[in-house]
Amino acid sequence: MASATRVVIAGGGVLGTMHAVMARRRGFEVVQLEREAEARGASVRNFGLVWVSGRKAGPELSLALRARELWAELGARVPGLGFRAAGSVTLASGDAELALLKEAAARPDADRREFELLDMAGVRAVNPALRGEFAGGLFCRADAIVEPRQVLPALRGHLAGDGYEWLPGREVTEIVPNAVRDHTGTWHQCDLVVLCPGAAHTGVAGRYLARGGVRRVRLQMMQTEPLAERITTALADGDSLRYYPAYDLPGRDRLPPQAAAAERARAQLLLVQRADGGLTIGDTHEYAEPFGFDLDEDAYDHLRARAEALLGVPIPRVRRRWAGVYSEVAPENPAVAGHALYHRSEVEPGVVLVTGPGGRGMTCSPAIAEETFF
Ligand SMILES: Cc1cc2nc3c(=O)[nH]c(=O)nc-3n(C[C@H](O)[C@H](O)[C@H](O)COP(=O)(O)OP(=O)(O)OC[C@H]3O[C@@H](n4cnc5c(N)ncnc54)[C@H](O)[C@@H]3O)c2cc1C
Repeated sequence: MASATRVVIAGGGVLGTMHAVMARRRGFEVVQLEREAEARGASVRNFGLVWVSGRKAGPELSLALRARELWAELGARVPGLGFRAAGSVTLASGDAELALLKEAAARPDADRREFELLDMAGVRAVNPALRGEFAGGLFCRADAIVEPRQVLPALRGHLAGDGYEWLPGREVTEIVPNAVRDHTGTWHQCDLVVLCPGAAHTGVAGRYLARGGVRRVRLQMMQTEPLAERITTALADGDSLRYYPAYDLPGRDRLPPQAAAAERARAQLLLVQRADGGLTIGDTHEYAEPFGFDLDEDAYDHLRARAEALLGVPIPRVRRRWAGVYSEVAPENPAVAGHALYHRSEVEPGVVLVTGPGGRGMTCSPAIAEETFF
């Protein structure tokens, strides 16, 4: 591709926006279209966790670590991302969970993840706000936090100027070689089209995604009013050990059953303190469509109780609740998608479709975009 290359990106989420960043690094001209007035999909509904700790050994961990480097580099240049190398602590509530954390701390790649096993006093030294009940924790220094509601406008501000055009309120409805048409009928000429439609599995990307290989997952989240005290790291509870591939170790089979409410909602506690002091708390996982259009209060009761048990204090009043949907390469059929970590395919000559990073999309987005252009 020549440096005069003009790229049209469809989708204003983090994947589309990181593609804009990486295309500009190559010196390409970029036009980015977003169907909404502002992106309102998974990229603004997430925890903002740049999550290395739970990644599967091998290519998934390498992708996350490369992305973590890119986030740190971008964070230094774009303060609005709110990048913080805060690390995370995954807390064990009993002996079986603690034994599994010990196994994780002894993984051959534990150094790359910057794992350190801590006893109760060690956890409290790292994160004094944890005054509740737990048996110990796994500190992952490689994990980091960004502010999801700020990331997209901050990156666009960074790109603003010559060579980058942001066109919100424009849905791409048609693609032909070297051009796309938006819903107003306007054509946008280009050399390359990158489609980053997120969980929009119908619409312009629908006919390509209909071949299978991706599915959608719905999660419930909430956010509290500010907590006066600082929570120094991101937090995860022992339920997260049941989901993340890094903990697929012999000790996982010895974990006791989850609480019924957690099992029903496929819940784990993840907690991140926002820059303003509020706590983002989640999550649940719903796989069968049609998804509920309403929010399930039992799952929130469970997550609130877990957060309070670990912090040892009542959490502040919940100010907001929401659900979000992400696109994920279906784990049972990675071959169809052509890539096990996310979906990238050249669906027509000069038209690249990138989606399906699942629950690691915020984390991996800069490295995924880099792989498209470099
Ligand atoms: C509740 C929740 C919590 C999560 N937490 C984390 C986390 O902490 N860390 C992590 O790594 N990942 C997390 N994830 C996953 C991550 O948020 C997603 O993988 C990622 O945001 C996907 O980005 P995207 O740009 O592909 O999709 P989206 O954010 O959905 O963006 C796609 C955009 O494309 C637009 N669009 C679609 N079709 C068109 C069209 N034809 N023309 C123009 N625009 C179009 C949509 O309007 C949308 O704005 C979480 C996800 C959810 C839902």
